[in-house]
Amino acid sequence: MPRELRALLTQARAAGRRAYAPYSKFHVGAALVTARGGLFTGCNVENASYGLTICAERAAIFAAVASEGPRMRLARIAITVDAPQAFAPCGACRQVLAEFGGPETEIVYAGRDGTPVRTTLGALLPQAFGL
Ligand SMILES: [Zn+2]
Repeated sequence: MPRELRALLTQARAAGRRAYAPYSKFHVGAALVTARGGLFTGCNVENASYGLTICAERAAIFAAVASEGPRMRLARIAITVDAPQAFAPCGACRQVLAEFGGPETEIVYAGRDGTPVRTTLGALLPQAFGL
């Protein structure tokens, strides 16, 4: 795996250690790079009213938009989870990633063990909704 993606996974793991996950104990971190080279991280933040929980991927995307503005474009994102196996982004996050990325956007995700999974947004969400 390219050094750049490894570094991004390290950033995602650091963000995941800051997750607020007292209910699921599922600590997720995300780190993304924007088209202009910005680095942003996010972690999942749960709530006692479960539906208000936000995933790490969306937290990172929203931080990137807050910093770079509405023209922010996603180049690549790494997602890690504090579990043995890797988990792909949920459907809601895939759609949010599609708002700012394209089919070629790189996605890498990893658990504690095993080889990280490398894929693209186009592979994970082949027919994203768009207006
Ligand atoms: Zn999600």
